Amino acid sequence: MSLVARHAALTDIGLHRSTNEDAFVAEPPLFAVADGMGGAQAGEVASRLALDSLVEALAAADDLPAAADAANQAVYGQSRSDRSRSGMGTTLTAVRLSDDGLRFVHVGDSRLYLWRDERLTQVTDDHSLVGEMVRSGHLTRAAAASHPQRSILSRALGTEPGVEIDSGAVELRAGDALLLCTDGLYSMVTDETVAAVLAAVDDPARVARRLVSEAKSGGGHDNITVIVLRLDEVTADRDGASDGPEAAAEGATAVLPAVGDEPATAALPVVGGQAPATEPEPATAPGPATESEPATATEPENEPDGAGSAEPDDSESPEGGEEAAPPAAPRRRRRLWLVVIVAVVLAVCVAGGVAASSVYYVGDYDGMVSVYHGLPFTVAGVKLYDLYLETTTPVAGLSPGVRATVERHDLHRKAAALDLARRAQGLP
Ligand code: MN
Repeated sequence: MSLVARHAALTDIGLHRSTNEDAFVAEPPLFAVADGMGGAQAGEVASRLALDSLVEALAAADDLPAAADAANQAVYGQSRSDRSRSGMGTTLTAVRLSDDGLRFVHVGDSRLYLWRDERLTQVTDDHSLVGEMVRSGHLTRAAAASHPQRSILSRALGTEPGVEIDSGAVELRAGDALLLCTDGLYSMVTDETVAAVLAAVDDPARVARRLVSEAKSGGGHDNITVIVLRLDEVTADRDGASDGPEAAAEGATAVLPAVGDEPATAALPVVGGQAPATEPEPATAPGPATESEPATATEPENEPDGAGSAEPDDSESPEGGEEAAPPAAPRRRRRLWLVVIVAVVLAVCVAGGVAASSVYYVGDYDGMVSVYHGLPFTVAGVKLYDLYLETTTPVAGLSPGVRATVERHDLHRKAAALDLARRAQGLP
């Protein structure tokens, strides 16, 4: 029996982010989603680069796990060679359809679902801390859904020179549907709702739009990306019709694309074009808030400032005290000051390096309550902090008191910083 797939893909910035770090590929028989991470546009770069590398590697050799490995190396390589992208990474969930079903590769917390016989099954495991806890029986699936650390990944593509990549295969039947999505969907929409939409709506494009709008009405805290596939049996005359395009795409492969209205579906991302229309109000609010972060970076200037204000104090005393050797004293003072300043700068650098390795603080990343590892300073253009965890709770929505604690950037040990972030989100 031959199957034919109708598909639709859609990505949306959501209601709170200022950038869309998700990316997708919908080039039958390959479908993939990627959710990038890393500050300063690095997330966007990581997800796009991973998918481009995957496509390129597949064009050279028909080996999906090897292609995912190549994508890992491409992202890792760029993060090593470009300092501003250091530490970037991405999730990757990709499926490739063929005669006998699908093969998939997967790293991170994006998901592949199979809809069959009116039931929704998650095919992939979430490579997140809470995902591991659920699998080891330490957390229920329901508790995981609202866990404050649910966005910490235990595995990502591009953050290490080598990564363990899950892969597998699923036999497909007529009537099956597949859903690939980033966490921006399932963190806002329950599996029950997803199942209800798949049960009620046949057309993949309409399913995709409905799911994205459900995620937005559920809060839209993150970027949302969905790819929906419907598998139908090929009828006798249609079989003939589908042979042509397939032959072009996949040689002997009997399955896949070939549906006439696909182009219309492919044009769907235009809906992504609607995003800017919805985005302005909330998205611009967190935006500037993020820019206030670098303002934190000016904090170190307080130190030199403080030192500077001590100088007049000191230079007053020679004036008042001695008149005997006026030329010598100021010079010695000046040299002394130079020594003091150099010592302070050295101390700050050393202490910064040491402290940054064990200290965390809560702040704002892209408008969301987030936890940083390190110190909230930039010294001579070098950031002393790294984004450790981003939540989906907007800082703008916090009560003034809680918001003040987030904006104060007090330093904590890791557990205390995570605890503060949890409380800021109103979680127990
Ligand atoms: Mn996400």
